[in-house]
Amino acid sequence: MAQIIDGKKLAIELQDECIRRSEALKASGIVPRLDVVIVGNDPASHQYVNSRGKDCEAVGIESRVHTIDEGADEAELIRVLDELSADRSVHGILLQLPLPKHMNTEKVITHIAPEKDVDGLTVANQGALYAGSGGFAPCTPSSIMHLIKSTGVSIKGKNAVVVGRSIVVGKPAAMLLLSEHATVTVCHSRTADLAAHTKNADIVIAAVGVPELIKGDMLKEGAIVVDAGINRVDGRTVGDVHFDSAEKVAGYISPVPGGVGPVTRKILLKNTLSAAEKTDAGE
Ligand code: NDP
Repeated sequence: MAQIIDGKKLAIELQDECIRRSEALKASGIVPRLDVVIVGNDPASHQYVNSRGKDCEAVGIESRVHTIDEGADEAELIRVLDELSADRSVHGILLQLPLPKHMNTEKVITHIAPEKDVDGLTVANQGALYAGSGGFAPCTPSSIMHLIKSTGVSIKGKNAVVVGRSIVVGKPAAMLLLSEHATVTVCHSRTADLAAHTKNADIVIAAVGVPELIKGDMLKEGAIVVDAGINRVDGRTVGDVHFDSAEKVAGYISPVPGGVGPVTRKILLKNTLSAAEKTDAGE
């Protein structure tokens, strides 16, 4: 039976770290601050944004929400992002996606200052990740790496298979694994024989959005399995891995819920604190 990678426990440890760092910043006269920008009134998005505000409050990060009318033009959103990017008291900017269809998401994102882009959305941060030159990686793949590292198993030289190639999860997860010297294979919807790849993997990352796609018989004995999937099925939240069969084969496995999600939330706070600490160093 696999050992469970307990995301909730890891999140508590990260929370303590964030509180310490936030207190140290305040002692040096800097109040860390994350500003969230949201367009429209979608209740689920607002709920998400409100809970990010509570996460900030819990570790002593100031947070402000800027709500822009659904019908506002793109220029209005860009103006807000430009102002926040220029405001020295703002350390992190989180733009809630998706944007309404009349807005050009790629263009809008260029108005987030890369050093405040704590969710790793900008091309500048994607390029830094590709080049291995620092910057902010998106929070979910950073969380995935934190979960893998928490097992204490060395990533170097391991076969890692990432299932999913989105710009927010799969691709950056592959780059982060590569930077830790894993041998990385990226699978996607056109992969001919998914199981042939996953069966050969010491580390499997599921970032697919297909409920319970990866079953125990697709895994190598003892593999580390990290499941980023969040799917609602019959009122339950399930991952992209079929947990019951996978835990019989894997060495370590992250559950859904209680795995990647809680750690992802804390990574956003950590990134905001890192941005604030860099401000400190530069002044
Ligand atoms: P996307 O829909 O953007 O990407 C899904 C990827 O999975 C695509 O690359 C797609 O391939 C691939 N795929 C789809 N079906 C299959 C299949 N049958 N076999 C192999 N590959 C397949 O999703 P995201 O990356 O945004 O999200 C992935 C999952 O992670 C979702 O469940 C989402 O809810 C969750 N998520 C979790 C977060 C967290 O913090 N825990 C944050 C963000 C997302 P192709 O490219 O060919 O279409």
